[in-house]
Amino acid sequence: CGIVGYIGYREAYPIVIKGLKRLEYRGYDSAGVMLYDGKALNVSKTKGKVSNLEEKSASENTINGSIGMGHTRWATHGVPNDVNSHPHLSNSGELAIIHNGIIENYEPLKKELINRGYVFHSDTDTEVLINLIEDVQKKDKLKLGKAVQVALNQVVGAYAICVFDTKKPNEIVAARLGSPLAIGVGEGEFFIASDASPFIEYTSNAIYLEDEEMAIVRLYKPIKIRKIKDDTLVDPYVQELQMNLEQ
Ligand code: GLU
Repeated sequence: CGIVGYIGYREAYPIVIKGLKRLEYRGYDSAGVMLYDGKALNVSKTKGKVSNLEEKSASENTINGSIGMGHTRWATHGVPNDVNSHPHLSNSGELAIIHNGIIENYEPLKKELINRGYVFHSDTDTEVLINLIEDVQKKDKLKLGKAVQVALNQVVGAYAICVFDTKKPNEIVAARLGSPLAIGVGEGEFFIASDASPFIEYTSNAIYLEDEEMAIVRLYKPIKIRKIKDDTLVDPYVQELQMNLEQ
């Protein structure tokens, strides 16, 4: 399973697809992408290989935009099929998530959300998390980063996530607990991935998130890293990657 995110000035789609292929070694049963072109959030997802995803996104025209997120899924909750593949959207359609890992307490959270009027389209634990984030955001009128943080503090499990909000289209919020996540820091562009292989050709500067950390990755702004539990700010530690060792 793997995660790739891009926010910058290039076309995101080729970077995300190539990145997903680099992460294929991690194993997966389905794949999906989300592209934001400044107006619409477009999603294509399918059971099977990244090559199947390429065919589908070409036919659905999900290829344009300089913000993108891609995912390879190793199903834990819900069979491998198109609907259960990631990205998952919140009920409003404004938020999108990709997630590797498991939300162990998704059942009580899902019940509560259903009571509050939420509708679920997939059998995944991940769709519960994105609607929980939306619910927190709406209820408490929070910015995306804060809403993600509050939601993650209600979650038991393991995760590497990227979350995108059409209301804040210059930003991706990333967080990890138990699954790896690296951020590539370029000039006017950022990459987020399960390891550095998807972005090593674009930048040799990387920040590795630690467990229980979240990052707000915003264009033209310094990266903000916080501890999810106690909200302390963490100084980003940017490592210089060794190209030859990583390839
Ligand atoms: N638990 C999630 C699902 O089943 C994510 C699986 C993964 O790590 O790819 O969709």
